[in-house]
Amino acid sequence: MGYDVHKLVEGRSLYLGGIKIDHALGLLGHSDADVLLHAVCDALLGAANMRDIGYHFPDTADETLDMDSKVILRKTVELIATKGYRVGNIDATVCAERPKINPHIPAMKACMAEIIGCDEDDISIKATTSERMGFVGREEGMAAYAVCLIEKG
Ligand SMILES: [Zn+2]
Repeated sequence: MGYDVHKLVEGRSLYLGGIKIDHALGLLGHSDADVLLHAVCDALLGAANMRDIGYHFPDTADETLDMDSKVILRKTVELIATKGYRVGNIDATVCAERPKINPHIPAMKACMAEIIGCDEDDISIKATTSERMGFVGREEGMAAYAVCLIEKG
């Protein structure tokens, strides 16, 4: 399972699930701060018992500065493949008060399936608000959760 959170700020583009979404605020981070892809990568690395995204892609390294998280996902899939694993299926939830995530889910699934090399049907993305409570509800940030199954052979 994977969990990630990033702060929402002005002056940054919003990337979620590998796609750019028009919004007044974007997520702050060393990379492009794609909170959904980061949670998915952590879930995949965790399932393969290969530590976490911060270990493989440190947020202090020059190579990961402003890195496209699609590259992190591709490299994560390659990392788990070194132990003989491929992605079975993924279920993820994005927690965001705004913008509306649902209209973008088909594009996110298509983007992620292409990178992973799996069926779009093997990727589930859900979205929820935080009912105006907490940091998500106050639009100070977004969070994402992901669970995955990986298969050997
Ligand atoms: Zn992150």
